[in-house]
Amino acid sequence: MNAELIPLDKIRKKCVIEFDLVNKTAFRIGTSIESIDPQEPDNAVLKSDGKPIIPGSSLKGVFRSAYESLFDENCVWCKEIASKEKKKQFNENLESIVKLGKPLDGFHICDKCLLFGNNFIRGRLYFTDSYPENFKLALRDGVMIDRDFECAAEERKYDFEVVEPGAVFKVKIVAVNVEEEQLKKLEQIMNLIELSVVRIGGGKSRGLGVCQVKNYQIRWL
Ligand SMILES: [Zn+2]
Repeated sequence: MNAELIPLDKIRKKCVIEFDLVNKTAFRIGTSIESIDPQEPDNAVLKSDGKPIIPGSSLKGVFRSAYESLFDENCVWCKEIASKEKKKQFNENLESIVKLGKPLDGFHICDKCLLFGNNFIRGRLYFTDSYPENFKLALRDGVMIDRDFECAAEERKYDFEVVEPGAVFKVKIVAVNVEEEQLKKLEQIMNLIELSVVRIGGGKSRGLGVCQVKNYQIRWL
């Protein structure tokens, strides 16, 4: 991702989307590097200040891919204008959006890119990191399958840490210049989470990461 992403327009309206994400089955977002803290088990869950964390970037990824599976949007033009040849046109259109609040005729940015951004524009949704109000951690046994013999190799048993069911992660998404229709699309993603079609974190094949959405509310600022 480009660090210097262009915001699409001036802030006209903003709202905060808040909900509790409660895990119905064990949940884990693991650390990608081994912890140097000797107190931490191997395969620990990602933590900040000792609390498990769902990074905003991870949740954004979940929402983005769920969005892609729900809505079939024409993203061709978005990709095209990212190319060098279209750079001039892109800048002209951007100027039009910033000044007039709308793109030039024939120019279109799909809702997916508007909401989540892409390599060259900043999206309209800002996902903050989520922490649980209450949580319990546990160690689970895992077994790696020996691919050569297709059996569980004794020495390949390992532990991994999980957040036990019932943790209440407080989720906050700030939405800038987002329309009602786009908010409705986000609600559909939350439905998919409720239906356990969309799960959060790793170990999905083991049944991990089934979550419930509670206390969903939108506050206009
Ligand atoms: Zn697009």
